[in-house]
Amino acid sequence: MFNSKAHRPRVRFPLAGIFSVSLIAQAANVDYFTDNGFGNVSSTMQHPTGQYYQGTTYLAYQGPHEDSYVCAYNHAGRKWSGPVLAGVSLMGKTPDPIDNSELDNHGKPAMMVDVQGYIHVVFGAHGGSPLLGVNTLGTPAGSVRGAKLTHLVSRKPQDISSWQVLDNIPPFGTYPQFVQTDSGDVYLFYRHGAHRSDWVYQKSVDNGRTFAPEVSIIKHKPQAASPTTHDAWYAWFAKGLGDTITASYVYHPCANPGHTSARHNVYYMQLNCGNGSWENVAGEHLSVPVTKEYADAKSLVFNTGTDRCNHGTCRVDAEGHPHLIFRYAKGQVRYSRWTGSVWTGPTAIVPDGGSQDGDLIVEFPTQVRVILASSGSSRGEVGWWNTADGGQTWSKQPPLLSRTGGVFGIGALVENFIPSGMFIVSETVSSQHLYKKMMLMGRDGPVKRPEEEADIAIKNLLEIMKSGPLKSGSTQVPVVKRSKKQKKEGRQDEE
Ligand code: ZN
Repeated sequence: MFNSKAHRPRVRFPLAGIFSVSLIAQAANVDYFTDNGFGNVSSTMQHPTGQYYQGTTYLAYQGPHEDSYVCAYNHAGRKWSGPVLAGVSLMGKTPDPIDNSELDNHGKPAMMVDVQGYIHVVFGAHGGSPLLGVNTLGTPAGSVRGAKLTHLVSRKPQDISSWQVLDNIPPFGTYPQFVQTDSGDVYLFYRHGAHRSDWVYQKSVDNGRTFAPEVSIIKHKPQAASPTTHDAWYAWFAKGLGDTITASYVYHPCANPGHTSARHNVYYMQLNCGNGSWENVAGEHLSVPVTKEYADAKSLVFNTGTDRCNHGTCRVDAEGHPHLIFRYAKGQVRYSRWTGSVWTGPTAIVPDGGSQDGDLIVEFPTQVRVILASSGSSRGEVGWWNTADGGQTWSKQPPLLSRTGGVFGIGALVENFIPSGMFIVSETVSSQHLYKKMMLMGRDGPVKRPEEEADIAIKNLLEIMKSGPLKSGSTQVPVVKRSKKQKKEGRQDEE
């Protein structure tokens, strides 16, 4: 059994009947719930992208034109709804590019369902635009391509059909991440602009209707010795034990001139939501925002030296001790946990391979399961890696998905997940366009959907492509069919 206690289900539910979903494979059913995922649709960085709430798993993802789409799956009724266009991205292009480098891909949505059942989506920005005001906590992107961080909420609880904009957050954020506490307080974390920006959070005690001002927690600044390089960061936040929130982060030396994608070191700290104070893993109070020097002294997990690493994900065990994975050079994924006195390892879960990303479930301090999507040169896979000895050794489980030439993306675990809907995977199906098949993965594999409901984008595209290869910027717009009802109800209203 999966132990989802680390995700602290707010709603208890009957499990009977749920496991049989993926066994009802009818001839006309397919593994994906839609084929209109678009671009770099899956990442753990913007999260959650799914949440289970009262019998239904709600999912948000980047669709055509980098717009935000939402689907929902009712587990007992085995019924999908959507995709619904929830919000239009100002970063999107029409027609849809066929070259991924023409996409921004940073405006992917994060979502949550609040305690009243309203569904929230935050999306659409890569630092915002200078046209939208002065960013006192970071640098805006250099052009309107930075667009605008936008907060949508469903008009009705547990209903994805219509949406409104809540104009209650600054426009500058990148990488939005929601964390809800057991009491229902909502924390929205994000980087307050482009690279050279602080990481901040804003707290809401009224289900996201209003937010307190930004609290800066990780500081960007010029390096003293080399002021053309700024200290910059990539951070990942999740619910910890009780009334705490974990923050795991990596360092980015942001040089200009000579900019690179370098990222180094792994750091950890946590928020005590009760009094708003931050602590390091040993419980020592931290002054925020933390600087590079302060973080090196107080919150360092692992010094990578000159090696490159990248952020991963972090979950806690029943003691509240963090377990984290991060991506390392040459496709490695490494793991470390806090034993109560030291950080272990880190050890390589995957010794080498292609690009990897994923999330983890901590069943016991020494028993951890990591779900990874990998895209090597010849084969793409999605599957579990398990340890029963505290992370010293890892065993690869038979993959849930494995495709020659396949490329998979993965998001963080569905918040409050149940075994029949644990995480989202996107699959690249062609090098000729950027549409992706989207799958909700359960314990035993993908949750099925009738083909006629799931095939939205690619069939149309292939019809168009019969007359010749697509050209970027051509007028051969791959039309995404939506019903009149969806068109009417899916419209984004400015309010
Ligand atoms: Zn940079």
